[in-house]
Amino acid sequence: MKPLQQAQASPFEIHRGIYIVGGPEITDGRDGCVYLLNFRELIVVDSGAGWSVDKIVKNIQRLGFNCLQSSRIILTHCHIDHIGGAPLFRNRFGSQLSIHELDAPPVERGDPQRTAALWYQTAFPPTPIDLKFHSPEEILTLGGEKLTCLHTPGHTPGSISAFLDRDGVRILFAQDLHGPLVEEFGSNLDDWDRSTQKLMELDADILCEGHFGIYKSKKEVKDYILSYRRHYGVE
Ligand SMILES: [Zn+2]
Ligand SMILES: [Zn+2]
Repeated sequence: MKPLQQAQASPFEIHRGIYIVGGPEITDGRDGCVYLLNFRELIVVDSGAGWSVDKIVKNIQRLGFNCLQSSRIILTHCHIDHIGGAPLFRNRFGSQLSIHELDAPPVERGDPQRTAALWYQTAFPPTPIDLKFHSPEEILTLGGEKLTCLHTPGHTPGSISAFLDRDGVRILFAQDLHGPLVEEFGSNLDDWDRSTQKLMELDADILCEGHFGIYKSKKEVKDYILSYRRHYGVE
């Protein structure tokens, strides 16, 4: 007999204290991947498309964490599949939302086009941002470690990528570097070219991507970025 409902993948630890807790295989096909970073305080990278917040919360609790009250959410860019859950996290747990200043206005206005809410046939409510990134590189010091947030425009003007080094392993969170690059998102190919070069130079060991999951060697990470550089004709 076929199961009534397709089994969903479980959240898991990618590297010590770094987990995937949401995404198309785990919570909802419409979600960008959601990552949980334990620095003693919790950092969440992206928030899903909004329909699966309860599942994301349950996954975080299943991993043994109960302190979402003090969490911060880093939004990699202003698209609904990454920000949709953010207002619920903020309202329910008081989570602090961070995004680059160039991607903040669509979130604050609830702009249906720039947030891509229209693409997903939904609406995004105007949502306040607690912390805006202004510089090319913002370093957050958390529990004695550093999380670096790089401004990597291209897909959107205010896209960011974050990385940290833990146990000698460099872990990079770079969502939607595959694009698309389209005018209605304010995409820019020259910016994207520079940003992806910068990401290649990081020489990361693990890439936690936005829709396709996790790439786990320097070579896999490079090959992944290179494949899109070739796709967009800059390599
Ligand atoms: Zn996305
Ligand atoms: Zn996007």
